[in-house]
Amino acid sequence: MIHLRQVGSDRAIRPGKIICLGRNYPAHAKEMNAEVPSVPVLFLKPASALVEDKGVVRIPPFSRELHHEVEMVLLIGREGTDIPEGKALQHVLGYAVGLDMTLRDVQAEAKKKGLPWSVAKGFDTAAPVSSFVPAEHVRDPHALDIRLSVNGTVRQESNTRHMIFGIKRMIAYISSVFTLEQGDLIFTGTPDGVGPAQPGDILLAELQDVGSLTVSVSQRG
Ligand code: MG
Repeated sequence: MIHLRQVGSDRAIRPGKIICLGRNYPAHAKEMNAEVPSVPVLFLKPASALVEDKGVVRIPPFSRELHHEVEMVLLIGREGTDIPEGKALQHVLGYAVGLDMTLRDVQAEAKKKGLPWSVAKGFDTAAPVSSFVPAEHVRDPHALDIRLSVNGTVRQESNTRHMIFGIKRMIAYISSVFTLEQGDLIFTGTPDGVGPAQPGDILLAELQDVGSLTVSVSQRG
């Protein structure tokens, strides 16, 4: 299992659970022909899915359709249950940029059959994440340009101001379901422009004031 790295520090944090928001940007909900949710849509990835910067995303043999979803990622630094919105930001230790890698063919089949997304979203290498920037270095996490390029061509480009549920609201809601613990990660949802990543592709994810993440793609088996 990888450990979470903080920019400019030797500190390494053991990752906990990974909680992801679905459909947190209106334009992405629209491109997926899905309704804009009235409460956050949540799913989980296992910590074993994490990949560090410069790592490789491997498409499992049972899929032929890997999609990229660039997302702002929150690192939780302090435990909490039923965290009030007014105290939510005190639980954020840092920010990173990540990729919610998705087996779109497997997910589409699961949706059709009413089955969970665990395989489509939780397979090994499904969660690349950059090093973390301490929270105090990010002036306004709701005003950051976010971008994803494939082989140098921009495919996703937006700003975190377009998120439907902001950080306070998502932490209050998530912590009413799951106790948040140090090392937990929250993937905050992707903007529109999701699309395929093929073996041999190089993905570059960028988040203003936070940094970047580069991964390559290969086919496994
Ligand atoms: Mg996502």
